[in-house]
Amino acid sequence: ERTSLEGAVSVVTGGGGDIGGGIAAELAAAGSDVVIADVDVLDTEYNQRSSEEIGGASRAQGAVERVEDHGRRAHVVECDVTKADQVEAMVDDVVAEFGRIDVLANNAGIITVAPVEEMAEAEWDAVMDVNVKGMFLVARAAIPHLRDAEGTIVNTASIAGSIGAAGLAHYCASKHAVLGLTKSLSLELAPEVTVNAVCPGIVETPMWEDVLTPELGESYADTIDRVIPMGRDQTPEDMGRLAVFFAENRNVTGQSVVVDGG
Ligand code: NAD
Repeated sequence: ERTSLEGAVSVVTGGGGDIGGGIAAELAAAGSDVVIADVDVLDTEYNQRSSEEIGGASRAQGAVERVEDHGRRAHVVECDVTKADQVEAMVDDVVAEFGRIDVLANNAGIITVAPVEEMAEAEWDAVMDVNVKGMFLVARAAIPHLRDAEGTIVNTASIAGSIGAAGLAHYCASKHAVLGLTKSLSLELAPEVTVNAVCPGIVETPMWEDVLTPELGESYADTIDRVIPMGRDQTPEDMGRLAVFFAENRNVTGQSVVVDGG
């Protein structure tokens, strides 16, 4: 039975993002090779496609460097988690390169802000597609390999999976759904695979800075001071260490842990 991630292979969706990068780095620190799967990737030696084909710059390279700093192998795959064909191709690519999948960190997610009265149907669909359907599609494709490896799924939910928030009905609904998916999958996949959720509170990432800082009209630091009892930043690495905890504990499944400073 595995008690460390030495020799493991992890897939982190949204791995080019800030929290994904923290999860990738902590998984690598625990001994895992890491695949960064993101819709937004840069041309690197780990990626077969050219930057022209991909279109645009990305932050995936930062995650690659963090994994390699821990002496582990990183691999970037362009993958839109809402597209079943891309998800299946990504999983095939990982298995061809590494031969196994031990950890799936289902982390890709998006947010917008709008009251329901003013919310476009497409806005609702976009958030539900990435945050919920994406996790379903990636899990479905990876499950046979996770069963073989007696592995784990760590879904990135949110404090928004436990509370409501005005202007975030679609996002809150999506993260509540992630917890339902997590609990149900934990029952379906026992005894081979554990399934848990990490629930960040507020982490200073582009998701926060670009969308919620303007909405709240105050800086991240001021929000922390105003609403967080522990009064300190919540970091991507906090989420990564919880993901490692879930990966290393074979009797913890169907659980969600909130990391929000109180
Ligand atoms: P981020 O924007 O830095 O990262 C999100 C990543 O997901 C990006 O790299 C983006 O390219 C990728 N992505 C978006 N759509 C995708 C798609 N269709 N297919 C593949 N990849 C896609 O944001 P983050 O804060 O690091 O968010 C990561 C996760 O954490 C999300 O699920 C988010 O809901 C959750 N979360 C964030 C906070 C916070 O305060 N930042 C709080 C709670 C939960």
